Amino acid sequence: MSNRYPERVQNFATLHEIEHITKQHDQSVLYTATVQARMEMEAEANNGAIRQLVQDYVDITGLEPEELNYITFMKQNGISFDYVEKVKEVIGSYSPTSKTN
Ligand SMILES: [Zn+2]
Repeated sequence: MSNRYPERVQNFATLHEIEHITKQHDQSVLYTATVQARMEMEAEANNGAIRQLVQDYVDITGLEPEELNYITFMKQNGISFDYVEKVKEVIGSYSPTSKTN
């Protein structure tokens, strides 16, 4: 079971781009307007990507979020350690009901 996970790994950078496309498609003007707006949109895309990866990780490994080792998780998903606080936050607030969101 545990060795199935790496085959299913989704790329963080790809999910990040998908977040921009699916959730921010009507905000392209805003993106180039100000540095602040761009940074917020980047953060949103990162958060969305991390949430999806946590969801996948829990689904595939069968681990509870509190059993999840965030360092292993980040390495397996190619997530920069710049985002470690965000990863911890997403794991800490994870609930299965957020799946449909
Ligand atoms: Zn981006």
